[in-house]
Amino acid sequence: MTAAPSAHPAPTDRTPGERPVPFFSQAATFEELWPEIRARVEEVLDDGKFSHGRQVGRLEEALAAFTGARHCVAVNSGTDALVLLLRAAGLQPGDEVVVPAFSFIATASSVVLAGGRPVFADIDPVTYAIDPRAAADAVTPRTTTLMPVHLFCQMADMAALARVAERYGLTLVEDSAEAIGMRWDGVHAGLLGAGGVLSFFPTKTLGALGDAGAILTDDPRIAETAAALRHHGRAGRTLGHFPGINHTTAFNGVNSKADDLQAAVLLAKLPRLADAVRRRRALADAYTERLRDVPGLLRLPTLARYDAPTDPVFYVYLVEAERRDGLAAHLAEHGVGTETYYPTPLHLQPCFAELGYKQGQFPHAETACERTLALPLHPDLTTADVDTVCDLIRRYYTGRAAA
Ligand SMILES: *Cc1c(COP(=O)(O)O)cnc(C)c1O
Repeated sequence: MTAAPSAHPAPTDRTPGERPVPFFSQAATFEELWPEIRARVEEVLDDGKFSHGRQVGRLEEALAAFTGARHCVAVNSGTDALVLLLRAAGLQPGDEVVVPAFSFIATASSVVLAGGRPVFADIDPVTYAIDPRAAADAVTPRTTTLMPVHLFCQMADMAALARVAERYGLTLVEDSAEAIGMRWDGVHAGLLGAGGVLSFFPTKTLGALGDAGAILTDDPRIAETAAALRHHGRAGRTLGHFPGINHTTAFNGVNSKADDLQAAVLLAKLPRLADAVRRRRALADAYTERLRDVPGLLRLPTLARYDAPTDPVFYVYLVEAERRDGLAAHLAEHGVGTETYYPTPLHLQPCFAELGYKQGQFPHAETACERTLALPLHPDLTTADVDTVCDLIRRYYTGRAAA
């Protein structure tokens, strides 16, 4: 493994001295962790089990210990984790699940894949999470489940949402795919209701080198059902086709076993996660300090004051910007990568057209889609990179750099 400090072609029109700042990079972190990763990868090679093997079992134990979950079920992706969690939590065909109108597509597509029907509700414009009052208003006699999402840097208002779930007798499930390390009054995200998920997609706070995900739950029945569903409805960790194995829920079982090479990478990274979270927080604070008085920026990340103490984690540094697309183009011209999370609200996605939602129905979600821009926040980022990005933003709106 040789160092590859920059895999990015240098744009020609950059100011001399500016180095490109990709939206995501973990090359340096990977380089640093390579000895640990290699040792674990060699164990996988020795074991000769590349799927649903020993490293996957260890990862489940390590994640349960880190989060405090009684059960952790590793699967192929965060999306599969959502689908299998919803099914294991008892979702029946046609059941309605209340979800926010502003999230990653998988929040709503997982409901459809699990046989349910997503019902959208508007978000709180500051936290970008589902507004508990809007969630309550969306409940109908067919609603069985409420699924808030914890986006970007903080959790949804879980105290208020738990009250909504209680009042209407709903199962509370969390899309905590982005929320590793976030806690509500000491309880890890995903464990405030029936269960939650984690995604280990490479850009996530704990990222693999490919796809992987996990279900977190304290409920042994949900864990057992999800564990069977991921493996063709079969319990246990045995591979191969043996006579006498009962595929108890095989009718609906899928193949979503986790990959041992990804588990090896995640096990090597997990002990450094707390450091990574602190570093992300310091970089986020550096952005906030430099961007506080920039005209043109309509909102910087704002941590909510909830009834309970919370542990925020900066997975994404998201700003709201005037002329957002112009700003993104200006940054790209100068070698800075950005992303729009999320360009289209869920209720206006073509795949949900038959649900009959209209433009204008969820104004906060729609505004967020028009204005938000995620700045680079990744393990390789330095404070000098933050300076570069912030100077470019200031120049875009004021025509000059910081004094
Ligand atoms: C990443 C993500 C998912 C899906 O996870 P994958 O591992 O990419 O399938 C679901 N919900 C949210 C909010 C996410 O950010």
